[in-house]
Amino acid sequence: MGSQEVSSTVDWQGKHVTVAGLGVSGIPAARALYERGALVTVVNDGDDERARAHAAELEALGITVRLGDGATLPPSTELVVTAPGWQPDKPLFLAAAEAGVPVWGDVELAWRLRGTDGREPAPWLAVTGTNGKTTTVRMLASILEAAGLRTAAVGNIGVSLLDAVLGETEYDVLAVELSSYQLHWAPSLRAHSAAVLNLAPDHLDWHGSMAAYAADKGRVYDGNTVACVYNAADLATEDLVREADVEEGCRAIGFTLGAPGPSQLGVVDGILVDRAFVANRQKQAQELAEVTDVNPPAPHNIANALAAAALARAFGVEPAAVRDGLRAFRPDAHRIEHVADIGEVAYVDDSKATNTHATEASLAAYDSIVWIAGGLAKGATFDELVTGAAKRLRGVVLIGADRALIREALTRHAPEVPVVDLDRTDTGAMSEAVARAAELARPGDTVLLAPACASMDMFTNYNKRGEAFADAVRARADESA
Ligand code: ADP
Repeated sequence: MGSQEVSSTVDWQGKHVTVAGLGVSGIPAARALYERGALVTVVNDGDDERARAHAAELEALGITVRLGDGATLPPSTELVVTAPGWQPDKPLFLAAAEAGVPVWGDVELAWRLRGTDGREPAPWLAVTGTNGKTTTVRMLASILEAAGLRTAAVGNIGVSLLDAVLGETEYDVLAVELSSYQLHWAPSLRAHSAAVLNLAPDHLDWHGSMAAYAADKGRVYDGNTVACVYNAADLATEDLVREADVEEGCRAIGFTLGAPGPSQLGVVDGILVDRAFVANRQKQAQELAEVTDVNPPAPHNIANALAAAALARAFGVEPAAVRDGLRAFRPDAHRIEHVADIGEVAYVDDSKATNTHATEASLAAYDSIVWIAGGLAKGATFDELVTGAAKRLRGVVLIGADRALIREALTRHAPEVPVVDLDRTDTGAMSEAVARAAELARPGDTVLLAPACASMDMFTNYNKRGEAFADAVRARADESA
């Protein structure tokens, strides 16, 4: 069966479906398909204790599980449902392509299964981009809630799309975060409206090239019916709108931190304004909220708020709900999180800034910074980042495996900025980093953890890194109190 024939009305009874990956998306997918009568085989590369425990649960239901071999396609497979992270050049997918077997990701599966229980399916407002997805999707959900709509922030964000689509709760609309991996495997997804927030090199090892990465992000616009929301400051996102295959009448809507043109949302005198969803956009603009309603009001976050507002307005939400939703929004931990002020120095945790593009936004939000950076560089270069921020750096404290790369960029582009290079990766390293940063800081400065790197050389994940920073800061605050 080709991908077109496997529709939401498909009779799953007796269909041979191979689920690739025994993880957070694979397990519910296997169960959902099994419950619909499919003959499910789960394949998984790993064969550890955790995998065996999950396998035993699924096998007890009657699902076949093959551990330790995620490469071979089971012979009778008619459809592969894959975990989004699986690299597209894996032998399993090559075998599927050769056999003409379609491959769906978790998002495609959720999209196809929505409405199969007889309920009216909720439309999706989708958000993708290199940075800011989670924040924007949560702002959007907050706005939709303020408008009295039944909604949830779902997707690449904790709540699985499959649960949202098949669960008990009924929704009027879903705010959906989509990663480039998920979009890669979601050929028939058609969102009501979608936004690409920005586009910078990331995950290129997975996609193979920047062009392939951009193309996967751009899929989010395909089939949009009301609005394709792009970032007017990032031409690549506008190009994706132009290339998209949208429904007749769907509009391109820009967001900008400057004054908006017609069909844009933007900022005028500290007010977020809409010149897109108003009766006369040539002459009229509608006030939505104040910049100070955005939490925190850092420039990149105002851009996120505008994108969320654009999607909500595309869905028909009134201006007052945009304001109320933005006011009610609380950012997730470790995203430009203000931890404490000690002796007129602010300590800010942006551990989630795991790439240079995110860190660039973070550094742009403060005037005088002691920057804590470093970790695993994932192939990134730091010259542009350092050049852009040099004037605002009071000092730098470097941690982690790839800190030499940042140090070299600092030597080249900001030789006058004092740098402390911490050559230790033990658990006490972060409190020393904070102590050294405190020595460098002057009243009015911000000590900013925005590592521009992944954390796994020193920490389990970015959460743990952020917690280590916050703990160290709080300990100092207690001492100085
Ligand atoms: P994602 O879900 O795309 O990873 P998050 O909302 O979790 O995005 O934010 C991750 C990090 O990216 C934040 O900590 C911040 O440093 C940075 N960031 C957030 N929004 C933007 C943006 N619009 N442009 C650039 N960087 C951003």
